[in-house]
Amino acid sequence: MLIFKEKKGLEAYLKSLRTQGKTIGFIPTMGALHEGHLSLIKEASKHAGVTVCSIFVNPTQFNNQEDFERYPIRLEEDIKMLLDSTTDILFLPSVEEMYGATIGNLETYSFGPLEKVWEGAYRPGHFQGVSQVMKRLLEIVHPEVLLMGQKDYQQTLIVRILINLLKINTQLITCPIIREPDGLAMSSRNLRLSKEAREKAAGIHRALIYVKDNFQKTPFNLLLKNGILLLENEGFRVEYLVVADSTGLQKLDSPVPSSMICLVAAWLDSIRLIDNVFL
Ligand code: AMP
Repeated sequence: MLIFKEKKGLEAYLKSLRTQGKTIGFIPTMGALHEGHLSLIKEASKHAGVTVCSIFVNPTQFNNQEDFERYPIRLEEDIKMLLDSTTDILFLPSVEEMYGATIGNLETYSFGPLEKVWEGAYRPGHFQGVSQVMKRLLEIVHPEVLLMGQKDYQQTLIVRILINLLKINTQLITCPIIREPDGLAMSSRNLRLSKEAREKAAGIHRALIYVKDNFQKTPFNLLLKNGILLLENEGFRVEYLVVADSTGLQKLDSPVPSSMICLVAAWLDSIRLIDNVFL
């Protein structure tokens, strides 16, 4: 595995691979890697000849300074995991390398109603930050295939729009959520859960399963009220638990024939967890 810290070197190397007819699969991450990240890497090797992974804790997507400062960093372990995977190239840029002078004058994007709901509403500016870093990463790597996790479902919808806005020729593949044996969706932030909180954390998945098992026989207002109660009884502070259409993420009050998704965000102690399930 080759490690690049500078975009110039990476761009030149990727150009040389392209002239050999190689296709590129790309997995952007913020590190503290786990099986969820590894599943994206595994999937990449089915679609492209070369797998590029990036680790960059992007300051512009954190709406909460404390969350940024406490974001887990485990570079040594990450590199070991990547060496054992099918990753060919790791991109490890600094903030200066990614943004340079643009950090003081960042561009903004228009995503319409999708940016106003759920993660967009509870984390103001988050998707602007995600887009700022994704634009730069995509323009450096120019992957044929981009792999992202359903865990951050709204993010995948935003990035799909961004790809169209930027007119980049990249196929986005959304990969399933990888879970711990008790159902908790794997997440780098899980490392910050206390032992007691970790024991309760799978309650977020149990609430989603309750909604999935009951949405056909229970009115949505009662269904979601019960789901929120389940979470509150386990010690969560719920930001949202909602059923939405899976394309625009607008809230639904009753079942529709098209694809529906149940989305949740809740705090356990000082850790914010998100999860979702298709109904
Ligand atoms: P992050 O490092 O948290 O920014 O995540 C990098 C990528 O991994 C994103 O596309 C996430 O959606 C994806 N990801 C994170 N957790 C999981 C998981 N449990 N299962 C599948 N993909 C995941």
